[in-house]
Amino acid sequence: MELSAVEIARRVNAGENSAREVTDAVLAQIDVVDDRLGAYLTRLHDLARVSAGRVDARIRAGEHLPLAGVPVAVKDNMCLAGTRTTCGSKMLEGWVAPYTATAVARLLDAGAVPVGKANMDEFAMGSSCENSALGQTRNPYDLERVPGGSSGGSAAAVAAYEAAIGMGSDTGGSIREPAAFCNLVGFKPTYGRVSRYGLIAFASSLDQIGPLARSVEDAALAYDVMAGKDPMDSTSVDRPVEPAATALRSDLRGVRVGIVKEFGTQGLGPEIDSLYRRAYLDLEKLGATLVDVELPTADYGLATYYLIAPAECSSNLARFDGVRYGLRVDGEDVGRMYERTRAEGFGPEVKRRILIGTYALSSGYYDAYYVKAQKARTMFGADFKRAFERCDLIASPAASSPAFAFHAKSDPYSMYMMDYYTIPMSLAGLPALSVPCGYVLPEGSSRPMPMGLQLAAPLFGEAQLLAAANAYECATQHARQQRPEGAL
Ligand code: GLN
Repeated sequence: MELSAVEIARRVNAGENSAREVTDAVLAQIDVVDDRLGAYLTRLHDLARVSAGRVDARIRAGEHLPLAGVPVAVKDNMCLAGTRTTCGSKMLEGWVAPYTATAVARLLDAGAVPVGKANMDEFAMGSSCENSALGQTRNPYDLERVPGGSSGGSAAAVAAYEAAIGMGSDTGGSIREPAAFCNLVGFKPTYGRVSRYGLIAFASSLDQIGPLARSVEDAALAYDVMAGKDPMDSTSVDRPVEPAATALRSDLRGVRVGIVKEFGTQGLGPEIDSLYRRAYLDLEKLGATLVDVELPTADYGLATYYLIAPAECSSNLARFDGVRYGLRVDGEDVGRMYERTRAEGFGPEVKRRILIGTYALSSGYYDAYYVKAQKARTMFGADFKRAFERCDLIASPAASSPAFAFHAKSDPYSMYMMDYYTIPMSLAGLPALSVPCGYVLPEGSSRPMPMGLQLAAPLFGEAQLLAAANAYECATQHARQQRPEGAL
C-alpha cells in the first residue's frame, strides 16, 4: 500500500504484482483506517476489484499501461458513471452520475483503479473540508486537525496510503493547500490544460483538475495522462502536452526563481519565516538564481477572487432547484418548491456565496463589483507577465500556517485568508504546485505539522515546473522525515 504510483505501474506492467494484489492491499488499508480518517464518502471496493481484474486482463493481453494498477481517490465533484457524486452536499447526496468525467476516464483507460469518492468542502467552497455536509475528514498527521480543503478527502487518502494518486480540483487553492497540510505534492495545471467535462462546476473560469501525490514523479505521471484537449470542454486548450514525467531534473542550474516582494513572510512568525528562507536557500544551493520580483496587485487577490468566484457560483448553482438534479423538497407551488429545496439542500457557506454572487451581479452593482473585479483580474495577468520577464519560476509559501485544529477558523474571513498565496496564480490561470518543505510545531502541540512550498510557472510551463519541483524534492526529502501516525 505504500508503493509509489511509478513503482506500482512498473511492477504491474512487468507482471511482478497483479493490479488485483495492489488493489486488495489498498482496500484493506481503507478498511483499517478510514472509519477514523473519513477520507472517503463512498468506498468503491466492488468496482475497484472489477477494474483491477480488467487491468490484469489487459496486461496479460500484452498492453503496456502507464498507470497499471494505480489506486486513485476521486474527489466527489467528479463524475464516475454509476457511482454517487455528491459534491459534499445534501443537495446531491443521492445523485448517481450517468457518465464519467474526461480526466477520470483518461486515468482509468491508462490502468488506474478507482478505490473511492473522496470528501470535500461542499461544492468545493472552503479550505478545511469542514464545510462538507456529509462527513468529517481528519488530517493523518494529527487527527485533531483538518486535512485542508477543498480537496481534503483526496489529500488525506493519499497521505494515509488509502490511494497512490488523488484527483483534486483547484479554483483558488483547493489542490495546493490540502497538499501542503498533508505533506503531499499537489499540482494545479494551467487553466484549460485538463478537461473540466464531468467536473461539477463551482467557478468555471477558475476551476482546474490536477493530481495530489506523495512525490513529484507520481504527480507528473498522472498529469501526463489527464492533460490535453477534449472536444467535450470548449475551454480545454488545443496545444500539445509537453510530457513532464520524462523531463524531471535533479538540479536547478540556470533557473531564475522569483521571490515576490509583496508576499514577505515576516508576518507569519519567526519559525515559519525561517522555514521559507531555508527553502529559498535550498533552491539556490541547487543552482537557482534568486531574484526579487514585484506583484503590486498581491493584496487585492482575495477581494477579487471573492467576487468573481461567488458570482460564477451563483450562476452555476442555479440549476440545483429540485427540478432535475438531486434533492427535491415539495411545496404548495413551484416557487415554494425551489425555496424549500435550496434552503434545505445547501449549507451556510454555499448560501453565503450565492448571496454575495447574486448581489455582485445585480443591476446597479454589476459595474461596481463584478466588472471591477474582472479588471483587477486582468492586472494579475499583466503583473505576472512582467514578473516572468525577470524569472522562470516564482516561489512562495503555499499557505500561511500548517493545518489548524477543527473549528479554529469559524469566521468566514479567517478561512478565506488561507488562500492568500494561492489565489493570485488562480486568477492568472498559471500552473502552480505545492511541495513539502519541512515542519513546524503548532502552539501547544507536540506533533510537527508539514508545510508546503509553492512554485508557479508561466502559462503552460508545467514540464519546467515539475522538473524544478522534482530537483527540490529529491535534494531535501522533507516528506520522508515524518510518518502519518494517524494512518498507521
Ligand atoms: N478556499 C477557496 C474557496 O473557498 C478555494 C476553493 C477551491 O479552490 N475550490 O473558494
